[in-house]
Amino acid sequence: MTTTFFSRKSVKYSFGVLLLSILLLTTFLISFSKDVATVQVENQNIKVTQLSVDFANIYIIERDSKILMIDSGNPGHEKRIEALLDKQGINPNEINYLILTHGHLDHSGTASYFSEHYGIKTIGHIGDNNSFSLGERDDTCPTSSMATFMKSLKTQVKITPFIVDKLIDAELDLSVFGVRGKITPWPGHTKGSVIVQFDSYVFVGDLIAGEIFNPTQPMTHFFMCDLEDNKKKINTLLQRPDINTWFLGHFGPLTPIDITRFMYK
Ligand SMILES: [Zn+2]
Repeated sequence: MTTTFFSRKSVKYSFGVLLLSILLLTTFLISFSKDVATVQVENQNIKVTQLSVDFANIYIIERDSKILMIDSGNPGHEKRIEALLDKQGINPNEINYLILTHGHLDHSGTASYFSEHYGIKTIGHIGDNNSFSLGERDDTCPTSSMATFMKSLKTQVKITPFIVDKLIDAELDLSVFGVRGKITPWPGHTKGSVIVQFDSYVFVGDLIAGEIFNPTQPMTHFFMCDLEDNKKKINTLLQRPDINTWFLGHFGPLTPIDITRFMYK
């Protein structure tokens, strides 16, 4: 009898602690998350503006008289993204292309809205077309308990499907659109993941992430099903001497030196 009483009490106690931890963590994440726009690079060849909304990065690239957007944030964040664009003096009607690094909802979640409202042409890899055009969701693999918690928060979030204007299945030289740069398939995080390169800057989506409290410190992304393959893909990109900055889907940017240190620690 005593044992039963004791175990019930301990179950109640653990449930209370769990509930309190979830509440504290949610409150903390909400208060820590701010909408921020940062000009990361500005020279005669390129301007890179990073918009961060609820820890999801969206990049605006101004180059060769064109404006490109890389990734589009979470569904429901359309107005917050528009407010950041407005603050930066960027007119969404002047954005020519939206390149999607992959089909996860925190990267392509507002693509339907921006393409419909502003006529922005979307570009994505065919490997993630079921996510883009049908709104299907991959079964993601959390890499930490924090990621498992994050996954539980988003199970009900839905993405509005959309038709990708330019579906690619191989490297795409962006000079066809009048912009010096290229999109390269880099599958792993998803089947249709790509990286985008302009000069020495590469936009890697969710190949790797930055730490929440130390954004320029590399960490394994929250969701990755094949960690060995992920290491290989990061190492292959590290071999490229022409790249000196990695821009990420979450936090960052990172330098190849810091990533190398992280990979071999
Ligand atoms: Zn992702």
